[in-house]
Amino acid sequence: MSQQQLFPTTTPTPPKVEQPRPGSRADRMRKPLAKDALKQLAEQHGVCVRPLALRRTDTTTGLTEVVEVPCGATLAAKCKPCAERSRRLRIQQIREGWHLTDEPTVRPDKPGEDVLALVRVRAHLEFEREAIQYQPMTPEERAAQVAEIDAAIAELDEALGETSLRGHLTPKDRDERPRRKRSTRRRQDTPDLPRLPVDPRTVGRAYSGRAGKTYRPSMLITLTLGSHGPVHSHLRRGAYVAPCECGQRHGPHDDVLSTPVDPTTYDYRRAALDSIHFARVLDRWWQNVRRAAGWNVQYAGAVELQRRLAPHAHFAIRGTLPRRLLKQIAAATYHQVWWPSFDELVYRVDKPPVWDVDRQAYVDPKTRQPLPTWGEALEALEEPDSRPAYVARLGRIDARGIEQGTRDAERSIRYVTKYVTKDLTDQARPRSDAQKAHFDRLHAELSVLPCSPTCANWLLYGVQPDGVKAGLTPGRCTGKVHQRSTLGFTGRRVLVSRQWSGKTLADHRADNRAWVRAILAGGMADTEEHDQAADEPDGSKRYRFELARPEDPDVPPLEHRLLRAISARIRWRADLDTARIRTATTAATTDPPAALAAVSLGGVTA
Ligand SMILES: [Zn+2]
Ligand SMILES: [Zn+2]
Ligand SMILES: [Zn+2]
Repeated sequence: MSQQQLFPTTTPTPPKVEQPRPGSRADRMRKPLAKDALKQLAEQHGVCVRPLALRRTDTTTGLTEVVEVPCGATLAAKCKPCAERSRRLRIQQIREGWHLTDEPTVRPDKPGEDVLALVRVRAHLEFEREAIQYQPMTPEERAAQVAEIDAAIAELDEALGETSLRGHLTPKDRDERPRRKRSTRRRQDTPDLPRLPVDPRTVGRAYSGRAGKTYRPSMLITLTLGSHGPVHSHLRRGAYVAPCECGQRHGPHDDVLSTPVDPTTYDYRRAALDSIHFARVLDRWWQNVRRAAGWNVQYAGAVELQRRLAPHAHFAIRGTLPRRLLKQIAAATYHQVWWPSFDELVYRVDKPPVWDVDRQAYVDPKTRQPLPTWGEALEALEEPDSRPAYVARLGRIDARGIEQGTRDAERSIRYVTKYVTKDLTDQARPRSDAQKAHFDRLHAELSVLPCSPTCANWLLYGVQPDGVKAGLTPGRCTGKVHQRSTLGFTGRRVLVSRQWSGKTLADHRADNRAWVRAILAGGMADTEEHDQAADEPDGSKRYRFELARPEDPDVPPLEHRLLRAISARIRWRADLDTARIRTATTAATTDPPAALAAVSLGGVTA
C-alpha cells in the first residue's frame, strides 16, 4: 500500500523502455486493479473501507432494513479513514481537556429503589450460598444446592445488568482458591518522595497577568527509559555535527543510527524487560505524581517506540508542576516484579523439561524430578531475604510549559497523536542491516523471557508455570509480549486519565454528530445515509440491531455498498459546506468541534 507512495510521481517516463505488447499478460498485469481504485477513492473521501452491515428492526412497525456502520478501526492498516477519524477525535479530546477551567467531574445518579431491591435479594442469596457450607448434608446434596443458588444468582445478575447500574456488583468469577496473602514487606515500597493528601482538584492553577489577562499554563512531558548501552547517534549542535560515542560523525540517515555501539555489551535483557513492564512503570509514575503534587493531576498521551526500540511516552498534563519535583518523582519511580527468579536459563529451548503424565507435572529430562510448581516458587518468595525478580525504573523526563491556545499547544497535540493509527513497531521499522540485526536481537531476547505467570517460558528457568498443563513449548508462547509487532510492550497505546475532558471518545463522536445535525437542520432530512444507525439518540429503544450476514439476500455486495457510501459522502459534504456558508452569514456563533471542521473542510487534504 505504501509501496505506491514511495515512487516519485513527478519522474518523467524514461524514453525507449520496452513497453509490453498491448493485450499481453504483462500489459494486463500493469493495469490498476479495480479493487484498489475503489479502496483509494473510499479512503480519499473518508469512507470506511470495511463497513459493517447491520440489520435494524423497527419494533413498532416490524420493518427491517440494512444499515451500515463504519468499522471503527483505530489502526490504519485495518481501515485508514476510520483510523484517521479516531485520531482526530483523540486530538479533539486532548485539546478540550488540556486547559479546562472547570472541574469536569460527573456525579453518578443515586441508584433507584428497583435496583436496591434486586441487590437486596442478591445479598440474601450470597448469604444462603455460604450457609450451605455449614449445614450437615452429603457432598452431593451440597453441590446440588450450591448449583441451584448459583443459577438463581446468574439470573439475578442478568436482571441487574438490565438496570441502570454501572459496573459489576461482584467479581465475575468466584475464585475458589484462597487468596495469597501479601506481606507488607512485599508491597511496592513507597518511594522517597514528598507525600501529600490528594486534593480532588483536577484543574491547573490560573495566573493573572497584566491587563486582567488570565494565564493557564500546562505541560508537555516525555518519559523515557534509561540507557541500555550507548547507541550510534546523530548529534547536531547548531551547524556542527558532534562525534558519536564511536568516534565518527553520523549523518541524519546513517545506516547504523540507533543501533548499539557495541552489540555484545548492550543490555538486551534489560531492554526487553523494561519494554514488558513499561506500562506498569507508567502507572506507578502517575500514582507518584498525584501523591507528590497533592492534587488529582490529569493527563492524556500516547506510547511510541524510540528508534533504539525502547518504548517512551508523551503526555499532555493539565496544569503545571515544578520541574524539579517532576525530576525527583521520575528518579524515584520503579515497579518491582515479584516473580520467581529468572536470571539464568536452567534449560535450553531444544532440551526443555518434559511432561510426566502420571505426576501431571513437568520433570527434569534426565533426573525425572518434578520442577517446583508456581505455588511453591511463590512460597519461596515469602522468605525474608527474597528480592524482586526485576525492578523496572523510569529513566528520564523532559518537561515543557505550554500556554493555552498557542500554536505550540496545537503542535504538541499533533506530536502526541502522530503515530496512534500505526502499530507500535511501524514507525521504528528497521531499514538497514544493522538496524534489522538490532531488532532481531531484541526480539530473540523477548522470545525466551517469561511474559506472565502462565508463560511456557518458565520451564526454561526450572519453574512450572501457573495453571500448568501438558503441551507447553518454551520459546513458542503465543503471548503478545513475544511478537514482533509489539516488541514487548502490550499496554494501552493511548492513555487518557478519567477526568481529562470528562468525556469518552464516544461522547466526542456524539458531539460532532450533534453539531452536524444543528448545521443541517432545516436544510436536509435527518435520514441521510451518512447518518449512521448508531447515531440515533432516541432510537435505542425503538430499534433492534443485529449483524447482517453478507450472504443475506438484502445485503448488497461490499463493492456496491462502498460505491453508494462514496457518492453519499460527496453529496453530504457539498450540502454541509453550503449549509455552513449559509449559517456563517446568519449566525457566527456555531462553534464547530475542531476535529470535524478539519474533516469536513476537504477530505483530500489528509
Ligand atoms: Zn473503517
Ligand atoms: Zn557511532
Ligand atoms: Zn509468554
